[in-house]
Amino acid sequence: MARELASGDCRGECNWTGTNDQIDDLQVFACGACGSEWIPTESWTPRNADGEIDPGVAAARAAHPVAPSSPW
Ligand SMILES: [Zn+2]
Repeated sequence: MARELASGDCRGECNWTGTNDQIDDLQVFACGACGSEWIPTESWTPRNADGEIDPGVAAARAAHPVAPSSPW
C-alpha cells in the first residue's frame, strides 16, 4: 500500500469526485465536503448527499466489483 486513505467526518454534505491521485494504480476519489478518500477496492461505495453516485465512482465500482456480502 502506498498510503492510507483519508477518512473524514461526513456530515450529509458529501460530494464525491475523482482526483488526479492514484493508489496502487487505482484512481483516488475524494469527498469535497469532508476530505474522505476512496478507491474502488474498498468494500463500501461512496454516495453523494443527494443520494446520487458520481458517474466516475459508479464506473470505478463497476470495474472493480466487490462481493455483496462477506462469507464471515
Ligand atoms: Zn463526505
